[in-house]
Amino acid sequence: MGKIIGIDLGTTTCEVAYMENGEAKIMPDCFGNRIVPSVVGKKEDETIIVGQVAYNQLISAPDRTVSEVKRLMGIDMKIPLGKEEYLPHEISSMILKELKSYAEAYMGDEVVEAVITVPANFNNSQRKLTKLSGEMAGLKVERIINEPTAAAMAYGIENCEKEEKILVFDLGGGTFDVSILEMFDGILDVKSSRGNDRLGGKDFDERIEKYIEDEFKRQYNVGLYENIDMDTKYSIKSRVKEVAINAKKELSTQLSTTINIPFITVLDNKPINISFEFTRDKFEDLTKDLVYSTTEKINEALKAAKLKEKDIDTVLLVGGSSRMPAVKELVEKRFPNKITSGINPDEAVALGAAIQAGIKSNQITGEETLIVTDKCSYNLGTSIIKIADGKVTEGVFDCLISIDSSIPCSQKKTYFTVVDNQEEVRVEVYEGNEFFAEDNAKIGDFILKGVPKGKAGEESIDIQFDYDLNGILEVKATIVSTGKSINKIIDNFKLVKLPKDGLIDESDYHKSNLNNWINYDLASVVRGTIELAEKKMKNLDEIRGSEIKSMVDKLKTAVIDSDEETVEKYDEELTDLLFEI
Ligand code: ADP
Ligand code: MG
Repeated sequence: MGKIIGIDLGTTTCEVAYMENGEAKIMPDCFGNRIVPSVVGKKEDETIIVGQVAYNQLISAPDRTVSEVKRLMGIDMKIPLGKEEYLPHEISSMILKELKSYAEAYMGDEVVEAVITVPANFNNSQRKLTKLSGEMAGLKVERIINEPTAAAMAYGIENCEKEEKILVFDLGGGTFDVSILEMFDGILDVKSSRGNDRLGGKDFDERIEKYIEDEFKRQYNVGLYENIDMDTKYSIKSRVKEVAINAKKELSTQLSTTINIPFITVLDNKPINISFEFTRDKFEDLTKDLVYSTTEKINEALKAAKLKEKDIDTVLLVGGSSRMPAVKELVEKRFPNKITSGINPDEAVALGAAIQAGIKSNQITGEETLIVTDKCSYNLGTSIIKIADGKVTEGVFDCLISIDSSIPCSQKKTYFTVVDNQEEVRVEVYEGNEFFAEDNAKIGDFILKGVPKGKAGEESIDIQFDYDLNGILEVKATIVSTGKSINKIIDNFKLVKLPKDGLIDESDYHKSNLNNWINYDLASVVRGTIELAEKKMKNLDEIRGSEIKSMVDKLKTAVIDSDEETVEKYDEELTDLLFEI
């Protein structure tokens, strides 16, 4: 059996965690790094590189390197990378593919499932694209969870009994988020989330870079980048950046550091060094406004959650940049003695994702289990007879749980008998959004017998839908007058109607042994690959094109036949082929 992991797919960095003996742990890559830069690049021969190696060429080869792609998630924009162009989620899938393979090397086992985190304010389509990018990377994405929720889970697992209001302050590499969560009865809910997606560690780095450049000018009376060619400029810039980042990190634990760049440039044929002391005071002076600007978002988040500072029980500092003392001080001042620490701020989110993964794979059970709310991705309802203005319409879809409802959730509606002496009720359960029930996907039905005879409309029947986090729907029908009830559990309804413009064309419909419905789980695994293949096919020569086309056709047939093994085989082959071209 394959393993399940938790992934923090960050704007600037990614972390992977797993459960070992009931404990979440960060999984280092083969070099022992616990943090992987979210950077994708291509070598000159177009091979894809991910992480630190790609990061190293960020400045020197900007046309072959992409960073911070998470900012573009959901935007219909092609990103050039080497000779090709990709959609944001396709780049993300390259990162995830790399994380998957390093996790596999570490575990010495196949990693098939993952829980991936996203910012609380990601919309549905950004969440879906994140899931898709995981699937394109060959991962079964068990769940997409919110980053602040994951961070809270990393901290909160032992004391989930308590009723608590938690503020998660997440200052990362390029984004800042404040979220307020409420834990009540073991349920963790995001009350509000506000942020600035243009504020992060990078801004602090830039202030130091600028300071180094200014210092150079002060010392040598000439601009650091004056009169030099582009290549030299890039290489100097990347050294300045590296030194700035290191200085910043050192100042998180030290009061002073030396900025030292030997042979930074050449002036009048003489090599020039730059070296000076740089203090925490100076750094804080340069970045005061950045730190202070977080206040406003804290205010907004509190206001949106209708809470005051004093209502907050716990503050969690998340994101690498919250290691900076000035940031901690600002938060401490506003929320005295409320900061809970103990977990590395840049690792909390991944650890929480692993805990969620552990819950999913039953490595954590019982009382320790924390319930996290999620959103329902379906409209779930039943078929009714509608009587309006004296007109009777049969088979109308009546929605009980609508898409985007917070889950777990429970909804009840009361219906009435429609004919005299009606003795039974057929309860049909559908998923979809069409007016007529039969145009939606029928996911279950059952009959409730024993309705006392009477006039039409005299007897009432309660129908209750309970939908839980694991995608299980429980439908209960009760005859109100007698209390007789019947339950049905529906957990296999991930069947969606084939989209008209989607995966499989009209002629293939009839091959389906599922009455025009296909196995959605299976289809969604390969959808990204197929879309990518179809896009790429257009630009290929006939031979290469038809090779891909035939592979795509085989893959579609395997999906229709619900043949998981073959789907996996062709999906892998096709993905490899696509990454080659
Ligand atoms: P993401 O934005 O991807 O969520 P992280 O939470 O990992 O990223 O934060 C990355 C940022 O944290 C980078 O800007 C990095 O320079 C910064 N950072 C990491 N360690 C420290 C440190 N010790 N002191 C200050 N900043 C740090
Ligand atoms: Mg982050």
